Amino acid sequence: MKFRSIKGTKDILPAESAAWQSVEGVVRTVMADFNYREIRTPVFEQTSLFARSIGELTDIVSKEMYSFLDRGEDSITLRPEGTASTLRAYIQNNLAEQSPMVKLYYLGPMFRQERPQAGRLRQFHQFGAEAIGSTSPQLDVEIIAIPIEIYRRLGISDSRLKINSVGCEKCRPTYKELLTIFLLNLKDRLSPESHLRIQSNPLRVLDSKDENDIRLTATAPLIKDYLCQECRTHFDEVRRLLGAINLSHEIDGRLVRGLDYYTKTAFEVTSASLGSQDALAGGGRYDLLVAELGGKPTPGVGFAAGLERLLIVLDKLGKNNFIETSPDLYLVSLDEATRQWAFVKAMELRGKGMRVELDYLSRSIKAQMRDANRQSARYVLVVGEQELKSGRGKLKQMSSGTETEISLENIAVPQ
Ligand code: AMP
Repeated sequence: MKFRSIKGTKDILPAESAAWQSVEGVVRTVMADFNYREIRTPVFEQTSLFARSIGELTDIVSKEMYSFLDRGEDSITLRPEGTASTLRAYIQNNLAEQSPMVKLYYLGPMFRQERPQAGRLRQFHQFGAEAIGSTSPQLDVEIIAIPIEIYRRLGISDSRLKINSVGCEKCRPTYKELLTIFLLNLKDRLSPESHLRIQSNPLRVLDSKDENDIRLTATAPLIKDYLCQECRTHFDEVRRLLGAINLSHEIDGRLVRGLDYYTKTAFEVTSASLGSQDALAGGGRYDLLVAELGGKPTPGVGFAAGLERLLIVLDKLGKNNFIETSPDLYLVSLDEATRQWAFVKAMELRGKGMRVELDYLSRSIKAQMRDANRQSARYVLVVGEQELKSGRGKLKQMSSGTETEISLENIAVPQ
């Protein structure tokens, strides 16, 4: 029987690991520069946590969650995103008691039962950050700036920032009514999916990818034109601050994002290097969510970004030349006695922090040299009977071919 990985999941093979590790390294460095601390939450949670926060009527909760009964009793779900778990942990562990302002980041796998296609997987990885405790527009802009700074450090030049305000509990209901009336006038001309959403989640109709829907809703009222004074002032300040740090952006009045919990700022970063799934990162403010999940009313803002899509963009832009680690030294042995010696010596040198490889297949000297070359070993030391007897050998630098005589007792390779 042959086993295959599940549709929509991917093995990250050793040849790709250097890219993953480098990108993750940049993510961690930038998060540290912005003073966000890492949180690692379980990959599964109570289903109701996601239903409550993301929203029952969203695509994620209504059709994309991996949910199952734990021993036939509790419904649990593999996390489809990171914000709900992070806030659950924030509330449960009283993180607010330690500081009124908490800045957290995460990085890890997420699970959604979506139709797999380029840039869309069922197990994918996200990094993201949450700034909890303040309504300051500075934090909206800080949160937007984090993924953009990560992309800048990785050499991505084609990212675009789109922002919108989705209003708050004060101004959204009136706007929703207006939009619903507009949409009801279009009735059956909308796609069946959008038609269904008119009552359940009218804002999402503006998010439809259906060309006919887009044409029909071209003159739909947009929330940004119906904001209350507080939301308008907040949005203006976010835009002013983006300007102050030279982050160019465009307003996209149709940007509503697929999750219910956003208030005020919503944003998305896209890349022209991606196809139809062009979002690299997205996020926004969620001032009501902590209370919704049972915590003290606390404002917050956050983002999530896809790692696979980031790697696709790096690939397309030719910025993916990450260097894999390779052995400092390859010990070539010629017979049983030197193989024994090489094994013990390799262990000793590895214990001192040297990257050492040796031959485990009793190959010929030529095959071992080829292997050392293939593995990009920086130095090779060939040890035979003669070398063991004299206690001296020739250390060969692979890039130049230069050989230096050294003592086998005291092996060191120049950095
Ligand atoms: P979301 O949580 O839906 O706002 O997604 C945030 C980011 O995660 C997106 O901009 C993508 O980069 C990435 N992402 C979301 N869903 C998937 C998926 N199914 N496969 C790969 N990446 C995804």
